[in-house]
Amino acid sequence: MMRLFLKKGREDSLRRFHPWVFSGAIARYEGNAEEGDVVEVLSHDGDFLAAGHYQNGSITVRILSFTPCAAEAAFWEDTLRKAQALRTAALHCADTTAYRLVHGEGDNLPGLIIDIYGNTAVLQAHSIGMFRARADIVAALQKIYGEQLSAVYDKSSATLASTANEAVADSYLYRAGTPENIALENGYRFAVDWEQGQKTGFFLDQRDNRQLLSHYAKGRSVLNLFCYTGGFSVYALGGGAANVCSVDSSQRAIELANRNAALNFSAAAPHEAIAADAFDFLRRSEPNAYNAIILDPPAFAKHKGALHNALQAYKRLNAAAFSRIASGGIIFTFSCSQVVGKTDFRNAVFSAAAMAGRNVRILHQLTQPADHPINIYHPEGEYLKGLVLYVE
Ligand code: SAH
Repeated sequence: MMRLFLKKGREDSLRRFHPWVFSGAIARYEGNAEEGDVVEVLSHDGDFLAAGHYQNGSITVRILSFTPCAAEAAFWEDTLRKAQALRTAALHCADTTAYRLVHGEGDNLPGLIIDIYGNTAVLQAHSIGMFRARADIVAALQKIYGEQLSAVYDKSSATLASTANEAVADSYLYRAGTPENIALENGYRFAVDWEQGQKTGFFLDQRDNRQLLSHYAKGRSVLNLFCYTGGFSVYALGGGAANVCSVDSSQRAIELANRNAALNFSAAAPHEAIAADAFDFLRRSEPNAYNAIILDPPAFAKHKGALHNALQAYKRLNAAAFSRIASGGIIFTFSCSQVVGKTDFRNAVFSAAAMAGRNVRILHQLTQPADHPINIYHPEGEYLKGLVLYVE
């Protein structure tokens, strides 16, 4: 196993259990490793610190264990069982068969996402080490779920580039029969397209926030911008909204939003879904046409360099919503950009409110649900921020 020695004084973050080793902290290497191999990280003086997946790049090692560990079969079974135990403890949603089983660093598995949809697990590797471990991961999932698991789909091509040694392509790693693609969330039915859809097929991180919307929806005219497959729209209809308009730039998402509305409500349900740019749609909409607006855009900033432009975009979007919403309206506004901090986001929304000159109060401050846990030693894992606002 390759051993990698840190520069003097650079071991502090590992001693505080931060799960990444940056290339700049490394003094020297002993032995050889291929990308994705498990390597050991030692202090300048040779004290063992941690073991993890090696990869070329600014994050050189993603830590799997702070005790010696070769990441063999027992490691995967043990770690995935712990992930499952956390979900059993933390998820108290009735009639829910869709949840995140593994949330990367939040489950001490940097570089790995596993989402469960009924009897299907969808795996997404963000590191070569996790991609190369996929057979062990599937074996562990089979042991844990037994007969309840009928498919494991690997969807890593969107998150991991092929390298000279690893060709990354999406495929079923295990499949017994036809996987059931209708998942339940708080009793609502959703068709999940993990093969063609965005991310692993569904945005599980908005589950609790959708539930909260349903409590506000009664009698309201709801505009769900960036609706994707209509998660918020279904809950708004379930909560008794007077009418719901879902908007997304993706035609495919709009078809799924219609399908999901139809899976839960009759054809007479007051729902329409429109493929359009959300900024344009909002600009062209009549003032006071809506008294509930959801703004759940994609991450406007994927890295720090994009932060300034992202904050301007959040400001413009929120200002447009503030200028249109009817008096007594409710806005659910989100940012899922990891590099946009809670305070940054709140300041952008604050500036937007001031630009529109509306009286705005914060009713709720929202985040990601318990199946997207945040490792206390890796605060970067907190990415979803939301505000529920009352606009006079
Ligand atoms: N609220 C959704 C998740 C939103 S993900 C849910 O609960 O499931 C962000 C969505 O924004 C994607 O579906 C993407 O297609 C859409 N999108 C990206 N840019 C857009 C734009 N300019 N106008 C409208 N939709 C856009």
